[in-house]
Amino acid sequence: LLAAADSGGVASYHPVLDQQSLRRLQLGTEIEQAMADGQISVVFQPIIDAQTSDIVSVETLVRWAHPRYGSIPPDDFIHLAEQIGRIGAVTDHVLDLALARCRRWLDQDIALSVAVNLSVHCLTEPDLLSRVRSALQRHGVPGELLTLELTEGSVVDDSVRDSTVLADLHDLGLRLSMDDFGTGYSSLSQLRQLPIDEVKIDKSFVLGMSTSQGESFIARSIIELAHNLGLRVVAEGVEDEMTRNLLAEMGCDKLQGFLVSRPLPDDRLENWLLARTGVRTASPGAAHRRL
Ligand code: C2E
Ligand code: MG
Ligand code: MG
Ligand code: MG
Repeated sequence: LLAAADSGGVASYHPVLDQQSLRRLQLGTEIEQAMADGQISVVFQPIIDAQTSDIVSVETLVRWAHPRYGSIPPDDFIHLAEQIGRIGAVTDHVLDLALARCRRWLDQDIALSVAVNLSVHCLTEPDLLSRVRSALQRHGVPGELLTLELTEGSVVDDSVRDSTVLADLHDLGLRLSMDDFGTGYSSLSQLRQLPIDEVKIDKSFVLGMSTSQGESFIARSIIELAHNLGLRVVAEGVEDEMTRNLLAEMGCDKLQGFLVSRPLPDDRLENWLLARTGVRTASPGAAHRRL
């Protein structure tokens, strides 16, 4: 039990279960119930067109409001969920909330696409394709309105590269995005080999752009490379005007970051959209609008 809850592939044994391990162990056992109780929910972060500033999409980001520990960020429980084999359930939960949100917009004739993060481990789940397909069908959302953001590490795996899972997902009409591009095991050839539509420049580069020429150069290189391969480019972590202007001038397609908006809970997203576009997406009367 101790070894299973430990991180990494190599089991290590500690004489005493420290406070942190104990908490992780406990959190792991609580994930399923936390989803059922609504403790695990999502926030949405707008993504805008870099040239026109129109909102083009929202990224769905998971949140856990724990009754005793307070707000637990995804970086503290996604990895845990992967290790204990619960990441598939978390993905289904997030996908469900994202597509339900998308459906409510569709009911008001608003076609706003949603992005959902897809972890490494999910790509090797044999039923992933059928789960994504049935989630789309259940909510009546066309695949075109869904983007799955893959962390870069996920596609390096040989079994994933050799399987048809990405092509099959792509055939559902959805878009595939390579998240956190430029970190980890970057492989440029994969961008060409895999059915990827989009890359997201990792925020570690974007955050440094206003102060570092080196980071700007990296961003520019990624944009040029991606465009030469026919891919769209999203920059995440845009926090200031200077960075926004630099990216727009470099031809980056879409922007996401605190400058545009922080990730917002559903009701605050509604207000943000209303203030931004004048479209009251919560009211049933807003027919035939496109954001
Ligand atoms: P990510 O997919 O790269 O998401 C972007 C992260 O950057 C989010 O952190 C977001 O809040 C943050 N961010 C956005 N704009 C800015 C900015 O301008 N400045 C700064 N400093 N940060 C910004 P968050 O929500 O804590 O999520 C962290 C990571 O957890 C995500 O990185 C993603 O890899 C993972 N994650 C989140 N939700 C899910 C999920 O539903 N499933 C899976 N598998 N992973 C998820
Ligand atoms: Mg992401
Ligand atoms: Mg990212
Ligand atoms: Mg990330």
